[in-house]
Amino acid sequence: MQQPQSTALQPSRPLRTAIIGGGAAGFFLAINLKEFCPEMDVAIFERSKRVLAKVEVSGGGRCNCTNSFAEVKDLSAVYPRGHRLMKRLMKGFSQRDAYAWFEHHGVRLVTQDDQCVFPMSQDSHTIINCFLYEIRRHGIEMRTESKVESLDTLSDYDFIAVTTGGSPKAEGLRWLADMGHEIEQPVPSLFTFQIKDEALQALMGTVVEGATAMIPGTKLRAEGPLLITHWGMSGPAILRLSSYAARHLAECQYQAPLAVNWTGLRDIEVTEALNDIITTHPQKQLQTIAPCGLPSRLWTYLLQKCLGQRSNSRWGTLNQKELHRLANMLSGGDTYQIAGRAPFKDEFVTCGGISLSAVNPSTLESRHVPNLYFAGEVLDIDGVTGGFNFQAAWTTAYTVAQAIIGHCPPSLSK
Ligand SMILES: Cc1cc2nc3c(=O)[nH]c(=O)nc-3n(C[C@H](O)[C@H](O)[C@H](O)COP(=O)(O)OP(=O)(O)OC[C@H]3O[C@@H](n4cnc5c(N)ncnc54)[C@H](O)[C@@H]3O)c2cc1C
Repeated sequence: MQQPQSTALQPSRPLRTAIIGGGAAGFFLAINLKEFCPEMDVAIFERSKRVLAKVEVSGGGRCNCTNSFAEVKDLSAVYPRGHRLMKRLMKGFSQRDAYAWFEHHGVRLVTQDDQCVFPMSQDSHTIINCFLYEIRRHGIEMRTESKVESLDTLSDYDFIAVTTGGSPKAEGLRWLADMGHEIEQPVPSLFTFQIKDEALQALMGTVVEGATAMIPGTKLRAEGPLLITHWGMSGPAILRLSSYAARHLAECQYQAPLAVNWTGLRDIEVTEALNDIITTHPQKQLQTIAPCGLPSRLWTYLLQKCLGQRSNSRWGTLNQKELHRLANMLSGGDTYQIAGRAPFKDEFVTCGGISLSAVNPSTLESRHVPNLYFAGEVLDIDGVTGGFNFQAAWTTAYTVAQAIIGHCPPSLSK
């Protein structure tokens, strides 16, 4: 963690900070401000009755609060928007700092095999209780049912931080745009796909571990487990693709082709695997041996889709054309039509928001309004599933806390 740089104000009263938005970023910012500058007056303004509502439901109620990043080679793979800024800011507050912060504040964490980090309690309330305890301990003022959409009412405050989260509609950001802030059009990210194919939907619950989902005609592709559902497709590969393709799919009004590589293998490798079976089991029926570790119900569906009536034949009777068609279908040639976003919000975040060109990249201070800062999902930073969105909230909130503390007289800051 970095220590604050001081360009101190010398006020005759304690400095005051207003935080607009009582979510993950707002709470983390408030607590860090008070930890480094106990004399500062800090108030959180939250529009609804309840604070931390998203933290509560996050990760299926378990709160996937960060990720080890052990499998992340390039931040652009996990932050489709904002990866350069995250790389810069994580030098000041990384996933390791977040892990240490929570443990230091009494939240024991555990890293799963997939590198996602959760509270050991497997309960998001552990994090909520930690935040609420710290808020009370530091005497941070909490004003619920206090929607703020103008800075006029906050003229008593020296610093203001906007932590209002993702705004699904640009309208919600109008008041910030009116101050001169550039806005990246908000569109949804992290959604599942509706696919109208009854035979596919009948396979609901089927999971293919190493699939690749792609939008043909683009470079947009994502790998990972793919889950067939009763409305179409879901699972990490689809959620990741929805994030990479968030803008493209919005422009297409969520009507686009989708190609799936069910094996994660190249055509030549699948052909080899199919030829092996032809050699070793020529008398067996095609349906009885699922190649490349495919679930057998999915194999039967794909066989039927590819060979029709011939799907009842024996391996040894496959001709070269059929072999080629099957290999192609298993290695990326199987296509579907996305018919919309599924109505279920598995983990919904907003792509877009306050443009990163509107803020100083070191402090997240507005380039248009002095002493106004932004943190969390209101910024045009969003990640894929796996704890990356909360990490962005912690990192940006910490950055803003440091920037504000930099203005505190050294005698008042720790
Ligand atoms: C169902 C679900 C599950 C998720 N699970 C995970 C997960 O496991 N891991 C992960 O990393 N991410 C997850 N996310 C994403 C994550 O929750 C968000 O990225 C994160 O909460 C963003 O934090 P934030 O503080 O910026 O915004 P928020 O948490 O959305 O908080 C913003 C707050 O500001 C308030 N507000 C808005 N406008 C105003 C206003 N004008 N005046 C006053 N208050 C205002 C809102 O009511 C809200 O309380 C999930 C999201 C959803 C929807």
